[in-house]
Amino acid sequence: MSTPHYTMLIDGKWHDTPEHYEIRSPATEELVATVAKGGIEHVDLAVAAAKAAHEAGDWRRTPPAERAAVVADVAARLASRADELAVLQTRENGATIRVTGTLHVGLSVVQIQYLASLADNYPWEDKGPDIGPVPALGLVRREPIGVVAAIVPWNIPLLTTVWKIAPALVAGNTVVLKPDEHAPLLALELAKAFEAAGLPAGVLNVVTGDGEPVGAYLSGHPDVRKVAFTGSTAVGKSILRQSADTIRRVTLELGGKGANILLDDADLDIAIDGTVFACMANNGQACEAGTRLLVPADKREEIVQRLVARIATLKIGDPLDPATHIGPIASAGQRDRIVEYFRIAAEEGATAVAGGRAPKGPEFEKGYWIEPTVFVDVTNDMRIAREEVFGPVLTVLTYDSVDEAVKIANDTNYGLSAGVWGSEARALEVARQLDAGMVWVNDWHVIHPAYPFGGYKESGLGREGGPDALDEYTEQKFISLDRSGGIENKAFAIVIDPVAN
Ligand code: NAD
Repeated sequence: MSTPHYTMLIDGKWHDTPEHYEIRSPATEELVATVAKGGIEHVDLAVAAAKAAHEAGDWRRTPPAERAAVVADVAARLASRADELAVLQTRENGATIRVTGTLHVGLSVVQIQYLASLADNYPWEDKGPDIGPVPALGLVRREPIGVVAAIVPWNIPLLTTVWKIAPALVAGNTVVLKPDEHAPLLALELAKAFEAAGLPAGVLNVVTGDGEPVGAYLSGHPDVRKVAFTGSTAVGKSILRQSADTIRRVTLELGGKGANILLDDADLDIAIDGTVFACMANNGQACEAGTRLLVPADKREEIVQRLVARIATLKIGDPLDPATHIGPIASAGQRDRIVEYFRIAAEEGATAVAGGRAPKGPEFEKGYWIEPTVFVDVTNDMRIAREEVFGPVLTVLTYDSVDEAVKIANDTNYGLSAGVWGSEARALEVARQLDAGMVWVNDWHVIHPAYPFGGYKESGLGREGGPDALDEYTEQKFISLDRSGGIENKAFAIVIDPVAN
């Protein structure tokens, strides 16, 4: 079978380029696909197409229910190919088939359905309160912003893409999407589904290109009115700086260093399983992973022993095998970054009690592998406890009181996720004190379409999903319409008068 080749969608046409990316499986290094390698000239074409489509107005004037129907149709198209897409995602970025079927494809389908359903009750144009005493009508409209740039990472590419594209399109915007250069395939499959669902030309455009210069050129393009970005905090900050020039709207979903607090009354059988799930799911490459485990000092020995024993039962290997728990790291570059953190951790005095190296065996000769790793002797000032490693690497810290646990948990620049394990009332009280956009009690990775996803502090700006998702892609417009038939007693005077009296 020949290797599939993917091109870019610009203004309703598929564009190829002389140079191509080679997408190789991080487990086997086999060639999975080739992809057009776009440049900034393609960004110019795509933004111009999106701007023209916005200005022509056909899409933004299409009734919201019809726009939502196109988006919902895409969910059905993805659902009908769910197994095939899950395999493709596994082959592309090494996430295990256990999670690509659920977190990557399954959850994306329900997210799209939910986001499309928001069109039904959204206040597209609502009459406001009476403006009186003069007869005047007040309306509040929600209008699309214009050209939206969506820039997404490689770790959970489809979900991070649909969180942006679906609400942007339901709200009537036009879009230029730039997938990550290491994992663009599912975004391109999504674009094909939109084309098949009848989305008009120019409304969704996809440029596959490097972060620098292509992503940076797109996020700084003067005709882009909103950037929706998921990726590293460093790039998020640069996008925010770029956006100052034109007061461009920005949504950022960035890094995390999730604190996972085990209270002394936690059921350890459940909490240990949950801790492994919190940190190691998606091969440890999840922004909302629980990577800082906080345990009562007097229970450290028992907890670490049980944790190491549990981790030893994980099956590392072929990510296409449904029995596998941990697949490869997504790229050689990411693997090298994790190995560098092992060096830093050792230098800082942390001790690896599990992992800390590549697994041994003939099946690991090709690809990029790291054993699930646990560091003890960690304090919260160490880089291994403060910086995002983005791999299957857990740091264990101790606390003497619950107040201290909360203090350590909140002592971080990040604020995306956190978790607490223990009896319900106590754990909930701790959850209320944590500075994080998502706090899970006796669970982890609960990402529900009807609840907002996003972070405090340097973990981001704005939220994705949830009931207010369309607000991130609309501008509010107040229209007042005078019915007094004169210029006396205008609304302005109404505001002034009570003060004067
Ligand atoms: P990255 O920031 O390097 O890349 C993300 C995307 O931005 C890619 O498409 C890349 O090509 C593009 N890009 C790179 N440089 C750019 C620039 N200067 N201007 C514009 N675009 C640019 O991120 P990464 O390290 O590849 O991805 C992992 C990061 O993403 C982690 O820090 C992780 O926590 C974060 N992440 C966050 C969430 C969330 O929802 N909060 C979800 C997944 C991943």
